[in-house]
Amino acid sequence: MPWESGWPEIHDVRVRTAFAQVDRARFVPADLRAQANDDAPLPIGEGQTISQPFVIALMVQALALQAGERVLEIGTGSGYQTAILCALVRQLGGAPAQSVYSIERSATLARAAAATLAASGCTPQLAVGDGVAGWPEAAPFDAIVVSAAAAWLPRTLVDQLAIGGRLVIPVGANPDEQELWLIQRHSAQVELTDLGPVRFVPLLSPLLDDPANRIALL
Ligand code: SAH
Repeated sequence: MPWESGWPEIHDVRVRTAFAQVDRARFVPADLRAQANDDAPLPIGEGQTISQPFVIALMVQALALQAGERVLEIGTGSGYQTAILCALVRQLGGAPAQSVYSIERSATLARAAAATLAASGCTPQLAVGDGVAGWPEAAPFDAIVVSAAAAWLPRTLVDQLAIGGRLVIPVGANPDEQELWLIQRHSAQVELTDLGPVRFVPLLSPLLDDPANRIALL
């Protein structure tokens, strides 16, 4: 497995342990199980992909989750990253039902992910809908991770970050020019850190048509 011998960039032992605890084969389609441990994205249906494990590790490490914190994921997809977040929260002594929230726009994928997660003993809060709206009833969040790329940083999500909160999101309209960004919300300002180039499926949302909801980064 790549997380056993490689990934020098992933120095957070808890993140590495979470990868060792979750069987990715459960989250990929049956005909692709032989490739489940490849460090590569794979198709999961509905034109979507299960993310590359290394990129998930990079994103989850950047969230720097602490005990008692709550995390919102946008783009549940297969549920694999959700399961990694559940494993991480458990290591921190928390309960996924109180600490992990995930939104998926495809009802088909959301249904499949809910079943896989339940079978894996992971019971986060799941919702079907447009994740760009965030989850106002449960906001603010200490961490938000977006698993699809937007041309702009959505203001709605920055607004749902707690003071001290971290948002990790791929930004870039062109698939060849996306960068992974870490946005840290401090009391008076936001701090932006470019974590490097990535390649994600697009974040689809009519809420991004509203210029008032767009924060330009590139
Ligand atoms: N981490 C997931 C990645 C799935 S791909 C995994 O490893 O399986 C990205 C997902 O984002 C897709 O399932 C897609 O349907 C979803 N998505 C795209 N736009 C969205 C939006 N506005 N709200 C919620 N989910 C969205």
